[in-house]
Amino acid sequence: MKFGYNYHNKTQGTTMKNFGLDIWGDENFIIQGDTININHASKPSLLSITQEIREKGYKGPLLLRFPHLLEKQISTLFKTFEKAKQEFKYKGNFQAVFPLKVNQFPNFVHALMDVSKNYNYGLEAGSKAEIIIAMTKTPLGAPITVNGFKDKEMISLCFIAAKMGHNITVTIEGLTELETIIQVNKEFNEDAETPISPKIGVRIRLHSSGIGIWAKSGGYGSKFGLTSTELLEAYEMLKEHALLDYLWMIHFHIGSQMGDIAPLKKALREAGNIYADLKKRGADALGAINLGGGLAVEYSQHEDKQERNYSLREFANDVVFLMQDISKRKGVEEPDIFTESGRYIAASHSVLVAPVLELFSQEYTEKGLRLKEVNPPLIQELYDLYNSLSRARAREYLHDALDHMESLLTLFDLGYIDLEDRSNTEILVNLIIKKSIALLKNEDSDELKKLQDRIQEKYLVNFSAFQSLPDFWGLEQHFPIMPLDRLDTKPTNPASIWDITCDSDGEIGFNRDLPLYLHDIDVDTEEYFLAFFLTGAYQEVLGMKHNLFTHPTEAVINFNSEGNYTIDNLIEAQNIMDILDDLDYDTYLMDKTLKYNIEESVHLNSEEKRELLGKLYLYLSENSYLKTIQAIDEER
Ligand SMILES: *Cc1c(COP(=O)(O)O)cnc(C)c1O
Repeated sequence: MKFGYNYHNKTQGTTMKNFGLDIWGDENFIIQGDTININHASKPSLLSITQEIREKGYKGPLLLRFPHLLEKQISTLFKTFEKAKQEFKYKGNFQAVFPLKVNQFPNFVHALMDVSKNYNYGLEAGSKAEIIIAMTKTPLGAPITVNGFKDKEMISLCFIAAKMGHNITVTIEGLTELETIIQVNKEFNEDAETPISPKIGVRIRLHSSGIGIWAKSGGYGSKFGLTSTELLEAYEMLKEHALLDYLWMIHFHIGSQMGDIAPLKKALREAGNIYADLKKRGADALGAINLGGGLAVEYSQHEDKQERNYSLREFANDVVFLMQDISKRKGVEEPDIFTESGRYIAASHSVLVAPVLELFSQEYTEKGLRLKEVNPPLIQELYDLYNSLSRARAREYLHDALDHMESLLTLFDLGYIDLEDRSNTEILVNLIIKKSIALLKNEDSDELKKLQDRIQEKYLVNFSAFQSLPDFWGLEQHFPIMPLDRLDTKPTNPASIWDITCDSDGEIGFNRDLPLYLHDIDVDTEEYFLAFFLTGAYQEVLGMKHNLFTHPTEAVINFNSEGNYTIDNLIEAQNIMDILDDLDYDTYLMDKTLKYNIEESVHLNSEEKRELLGKLYLYLSENSYLKTIQAIDEER
């Protein structure tokens, strides 16, 4: 794990009770009976929702969106800042926008705009396509901010939005951009009866910077922002071209998933003083400080690996206090406070649910033993150790078993025992290790941890880590994982999770520092689903079509006035031909080739040809994720 703050001794207590729900869950979910349920309205279980969708015929992984959780984040953000403002008698307003780069999916954006109606909440755009989303989805009057590198066309789009009546602020990231703004302003307003321009913000290049794996956006080495010298020059340019009245926002962004609040405070002091100085210099319209994003989300399932050392309350109080303090000292008005938090708003709203297809060490069960009438003495002894294992003697028996295994493997190499004996050895030793670990579970010795690595169970899960958890692959970001049911039973299998891509990086290995335990199940007879939480920020758009697995089937889960859930806006994962079409394959030609090869085959009669074509077309119309064993059984 590259970031995160270990406030505790690393070797202590990596315990995980209830899959760390009380650490990362924020009371959004509760365990009731043996299932994990939504802690809202009728409190349905994730399992019942999943099963209902699967019964409609949607197989493979499911992405469930919960608009009520978006509403919770937005109202918490606004209420917390409102409270801080009241406490300090702060005069500026609090406003917020959602940065579209964090999630642009229509089911998400529509839900977001719907639940935020009462907050004058807007959108932040960083590209032309995102500006078009913002222009069409933000109500007139709600703020839009536009950041990032811009060309003339992109700046023109901002002017068009302003002329439509949008409350839009375009952030200057560099002096050449400002030159373009001046030029576009001329073109749009020279002959206009009522000149209208977007508001202007300036991104400042901070001396201080964030920490953490995303902390590249702030600081002097940053891709973005104006230095003090450039800032003074920008001021003169705006003045010269009569645009100073539009300059109203100072903007910075110190990086995402800010685990520690100290760098933010530093940045606020810098930005606050720049605001006050520019205002005193004559930038009268200046009236807002935009903090960008960076509010962290607690992803940790383990108490000693928490990723955030502050609360939203502390964050809001710090911002309000510092802005007030600086304004007072410099004798300027208190600015409006803007945030562009994305991760904090979006992460909790979605849950990915994926079926377990297979457990890979299922051969290590008692059922698999092939004991003979007469076994080699060491094997007989292993068998006796296994059957008489008790807590008091677990450690001793475990050592004996490991010792016997070494001897037995040597005997096999020398030709004294056969393959069946060797298989019995492997099974018995694994069973003994498993049983000992369960008996000694309260101990936390290195030896036990090492043994856990050895008996870890590999769960093959019907999803793609590249598509659905790209930050795990790219940044080693961990996401909370837990099964949807059996939560009244203690899971004992140290688990590693394999996705269905043929890429060995698509594995969430068992990590001794962040151990995950799952249940022992028989996939031939039982369903077992894993849920991956806090996947709502960044994961969806960053997701890669590695192996051509596409965005999973998604659904929006709303609650009606009776408190019951409804499954809305179901969108199935793309079918195979659509995926290929997206890559610009000539799917018409592919279709013809497939058909031709079947029809021309000399080995098939016409009945067989028809049957094969029927099957093939059924498969082509389906999504490319695997079907669970159960689904296949159902079809038969
Ligand atoms: C990425 C970004 C954000 C959002 O950051 P989060 O950490 O997701 O809150 C906000 N503002 C700007 C300018 C950004 O680039």
